[in-house]
Amino acid sequence: MIGNERSVAEKMDREDPLSSFRERFYIPTNQAGDEVIYLCGNSLGLQPRATKDALTEELEKWAEQGVEGHFGGSAPWYSYHELLEEPLAELVGAKPSEVVAMNSLTANLHLLMTTFYRPTEDRFKILIEGGAFPSDLYAVQSQARVHGFDPREAIVQVVPRKGERHLRTEDILRAIEVEGDEVALILFGGVNYYTGQFFDLEAITEAGHAAGAKVGFDLAHAAGNVALRLHDWGPDFAAWCSYKYLNSGPGAVAGIFVHERHGESPELPRFAGWWGTDPESRFEMGPTFVPQKGAAGWQLSNAPILSMAALRASLELFSEATMDRLVEKSQRLTGYLSELIDQIPGDHFEVITPKDQKSRGCQVSILAPGRGEALYERLQAADVICDYRRPDVIRIAPVPLYNTFEDVWRFCEILKQSAR
Ligand SMILES: *Cc1c(COP(=O)(O)O)cnc(C)c1O
Repeated sequence: MIGNERSVAEKMDREDPLSSFRERFYIPTNQAGDEVIYLCGNSLGLQPRATKDALTEELEKWAEQGVEGHFGGSAPWYSYHELLEEPLAELVGAKPSEVVAMNSLTANLHLLMTTFYRPTEDRFKILIEGGAFPSDLYAVQSQARVHGFDPREAIVQVVPRKGERHLRTEDILRAIEVEGDEVALILFGGVNYYTGQFFDLEAITEAGHAAGAKVGFDLAHAAGNVALRLHDWGPDFAAWCSYKYLNSGPGAVAGIFVHERHGESPELPRFAGWWGTDPESRFEMGPTFVPQKGAAGWQLSNAPILSMAALRASLELFSEATMDRLVEKSQRLTGYLSELIDQIPGDHFEVITPKDQKSRGCQVSILAPGRGEALYERLQAADVICDYRRPDVIRIAPVPLYNTFEDVWRFCEILKQSAR
């Protein structure tokens, strides 16, 4: 059992090899000017100090060069998205040609489902985790409807067993097997936004493919949070947003993964736009769409440079820290949080996030039966920024890039007092 004194937290911070990264972020303050306890990186990651300069650089380029900025300077806008492929690939365990930054998350899910959800009369179902983020549910329901299917028949939600909070992997695999040759697509979250459960993506991919389905993942809560090896695991596609753990600002440009085995197939149906074509011949303005190879062939429009500059500045921090080291710290940080919560006397709270480190990222969801709102108000009054999901769940996410063991310790002290 770990000691619950403040000094233990301070010691862990002193020994933390990643502790200096906190200084590279703006930490929000309260009205008195003191730093708040920010535990909300699962919703909106904090702003890296480098972001402003990265944006200013592009604004100045625009001011000084106008349209010439597309082709001139050190990072010409025409190929700007290519600068992000290497760091994004590192982040999700892919090859650079398998990823690209574009659009927003839900829009990308639709674009990717246009390619990978090709239902037939016999094989038309989409399997999704029960309690998925509503946007994902709306997206799959509307996809089914667009193809002429009734979502009540087409959408299969896999739910936990009675009295349980998480999905057992064996139950997910079983559901895939049971639906078998009626499943066209499995669309699962990587980390569930509500419970924080990190699913066994490799096993799901294997089972999905064995059933003859396509497999895609929504990595909104996984990218930048947990170790991913998309290329090796082999899903057909994935998509994520960049404003949560990727710290790229509200509404930031999102990212996609398309596995190499599809990236080479120009004949795959897709919604096309000029940015999906070969950059060498794009300005010949030909009448026929020929996609370029890789995930880049799914792009529609020229890149939102200001948003991409923010993403680029943020990804530099990830490259420097590396996901391996971040995950290592994250497990210690969240392990510490989970232990301190367990040490609070009484049974005021139930942690509904899996305890097993392989089955969670940094987020811990705390259920406070009958008093969620009151607890949230007390936390807010004590300058804790976290997130509340009606009726009774508080989500806490200590992120390894900028949160400290002391943040976690202070939070748990406040939580303990709120229990009285
Ligand atoms: C945050 C989140 C979204 C939000 O979608 P946007 O298109 O970025 O607004 C969608 N799905 C999941 C699973 C999320 O966590």
